[in-house]
Amino acid sequence: MRRVTFSRNFTISLSRTCRCYCKYCAFATHRAHLYAPDEVDRLLDQATRRGAKELLVLTGERPEVNAEVAARLAEYGHADFTSYVAWTCERALESGMLPHTNIGVAPPEDLARLREVTASQGLMLESIEPDLAVHQGSPTKHPARRLETIRAAGELKIPFTSGILVGIGETPEQRVEALEALAAVHAEYGHLQEIILQNFVAHPRYHGRDPAEIAADAQLAGDDSPLAAEQPMPGWATEVTLDQMAELVAHSRRLMPDVGVQIPPNLSDWWAPLVEAGATDLGGLSANGDHISPEHPFPSVHRIRRELSATGHALTERLCVYPQYMDSEWIEQGVLDVIKQRYWSFIPRRGSGRREERPIRSELVPAAIARARDGEALRPEELTALFAETRPEAIEDIRQAADELRAELAGEVVTYVVNRNINVSNICVVGCAFCGFGQGKRSPEAYEHSREDFAVRVAAAVDFGATELCIQSGIHPDWALEDYEGWLRFAKQLAPELHLHAYSAMEVDHMCQTSGLSPREVFERLREAGLGSTPGTAAEVLDDGVRERISPNKLPVARWVEIIEASHAVGLRSTVTVMFGHIEEPWELAEHMRVVRELQARTGGFTEFVPLSFIPFQTLLGRTHGVAEISREENLKHTAVFRLALGKSIPSLQASWVKMGLEAATEALSWGVNDLGGTLMEESISRMAGSQHGVRLEPEDLIGAAHRAGRPAAERTTLYEIRRRHELPVLAA
Ligand code: SF4
Repeated sequence: MRRVTFSRNFTISLSRTCRCYCKYCAFATHRAHLYAPDEVDRLLDQATRRGAKELLVLTGERPEVNAEVAARLAEYGHADFTSYVAWTCERALESGMLPHTNIGVAPPEDLARLREVTASQGLMLESIEPDLAVHQGSPTKHPARRLETIRAAGELKIPFTSGILVGIGETPEQRVEALEALAAVHAEYGHLQEIILQNFVAHPRYHGRDPAEIAADAQLAGDDSPLAAEQPMPGWATEVTLDQMAELVAHSRRLMPDVGVQIPPNLSDWWAPLVEAGATDLGGLSANGDHISPEHPFPSVHRIRRELSATGHALTERLCVYPQYMDSEWIEQGVLDVIKQRYWSFIPRRGSGRREERPIRSELVPAAIARARDGEALRPEELTALFAETRPEAIEDIRQAADELRAELAGEVVTYVVNRNINVSNICVVGCAFCGFGQGKRSPEAYEHSREDFAVRVAAAVDFGATELCIQSGIHPDWALEDYEGWLRFAKQLAPELHLHAYSAMEVDHMCQTSGLSPREVFERLREAGLGSTPGTAAEVLDDGVRERISPNKLPVARWVEIIEASHAVGLRSTVTVMFGHIEEPWELAEHMRVVRELQARTGGFTEFVPLSFIPFQTLLGRTHGVAEISREENLKHTAVFRLALGKSIPSLQASWVKMGLEAATEALSWGVNDLGGTLMEESISRMAGSQHGVRLEPEDLIGAAHRAGRPAAERTTLYEIRRRHELPVLAA
């Protein structure tokens, strides 16, 4: 599943007065146009109410050449227009939005002034041809002038967006030359975060109407915007085809592999095939429309997401500044503070971010499937290609190989465990962005079971025929090792026959911190208190770059490994999980599987692997990154790839019905799965994140699911001893 990004922005055309006369431009005016400060404040207010994270400040070039604009600027207390842009950006930052400015060709001093109050800036190169008919009367459209500004931004270490206009009279060769020129500047300064490939569209006449109003109206009208009807092309325009655009995407990727490629999704229907061709970004989907091509509304996020998911791509939000630039080398502290306060989950650390984007080597897939089927460990690039696979026939090969491997290692029987979850308290100090469960102590949704509540739940588990009690909670600031031991002892006292499967690596880390003991000593104490095994949760994705974006306060990979190894060392076995379908990349899942496989090779302590798809609905990560729930198809494909990635190292692969629903979990039985997990009886973690799949199943539901898949079922214990078998019903002849 490859991610395609967009930015949730709001556009302010601060001044449309411009010194240039470009023939294609519907934006600029040569009359005086400048928003007054109170109008700026009103627009910022609208922007924040509409959830924008980026303020896109568009302007004409040097509007103060117009005497009336200059007089108004003076009246507002600004010596020049750049000063007024900087003031607008400051106001945006105060409102929690990140400014991205594009003020045209500008001297380094102006770029530097704006650097103090922006997260990124931009200037289109447009074309490498200096004598285009459309640029007559626009001296600053000379490529040398524009490259000078782009280079100055590099010297100043400004995260920068540039790009080319396609179809304004240039030749196909000149398009590539323009990209080469941008690549040369980027090779020197490394500051280009994305390249926009913008095709020219002819505009109707607006008869003096303000493009901002037209854009807002068109955005409201959506696809029905009457202005979006095709216009006759002017004589100077050159034809642009989808194939040519796809070639430009390929050239951009070749020339600048670490730079994003943006296709505006409102200017043609070809954005989807261009994503297939390698485009990585759909730009700012401005809440108030496109002020440059105002008659073309942006498609809705919902529609884009739906269309992308059909081709195996996932849409997620980015900020206007790309992840790899979010540090003090590239961004002023005041701007960085806003990112840290409001958008911390977008900050990558330790190598996570677009610069790390790796090529997907689909050609490796057939051989990788064959080798995985034989149980061999795959290389990172092979696993990456499997996780990113979108070709239906290749996915079917993955499914078949996973199914065969399942049959060889776990047979036909579908196992389940009769268990009960008890989430003793949801009070938590960690604050993971993906979590809808953990609550601050004073939250109205915070709870903490009393001993009586706990006892009632244990009694209900016994009545239900449970063999396992699974105990996990948030990281409660007041609990020490003795409290955790206390719950185990109490459970054993109430029901000595129950197997206690308890405490995530994060909870164990908390016990170590508060007791001063090592993980091994803590596990010895917990085992004494009745612990039977430990859940391999808090693994999320075992890649520090991902962890620090989604749960920066959580234990790092090395500590997770150390804790789980300690549990295995004292003879306590564990499960192991992965949480996928959020902001992780295929190669980060490949890294997760490497860590899991190597740990299993050292200890042999994992009983089963449990893929947990991310439930986004009531989580910060879902809201801030615009992450939607993974599709059923992608979920199943990932499940099969996890089976292949494990090879013969862990025989049992579980489908989580809480996360994916029982129907999809049943289907997963032919995608490498042999286990349907537990009856649970109570499940707060997924439920509070918005899962719709219920919290309790009867054993009959799980047996029925296995039988519907044409497979016998069996109840197992936590450690995979078979308790009773449920053969397939014999159908009457
Ligand atoms: S995932 Fe666990 S540690 Fe993180 S906030 Fe939720 S309850 Fe707390």
